Amino acid sequence: MRGKQQVEEIPMFEMIVWSCTNDVCKGWMRQEYSFSAEPACPLCQSGMIHETRLLPQLSHYIGS
Ligand SMILES: [Zn+2]
Repeated sequence: MRGKQQVEEIPMFEMIVWSCTNDVCKGWMRQEYSFSAEPACPLCQSGMIHETRLLPQLSHYIGS
């Protein structure tokens, strides 16, 4: 028998990301993953702009 599933609240943080300028494209990447001053979208090769997004903080998951 399993315990009831826990609904974990994932803390969200504002992060600056690169976002694709192409309206129909959902491409984006975290700023720290881009090594170029003006990266191109990995999906459609369009230009990218800085944008603030709310993202879950993934680096602080400690499994139990
Ligand atoms: Zn794109």
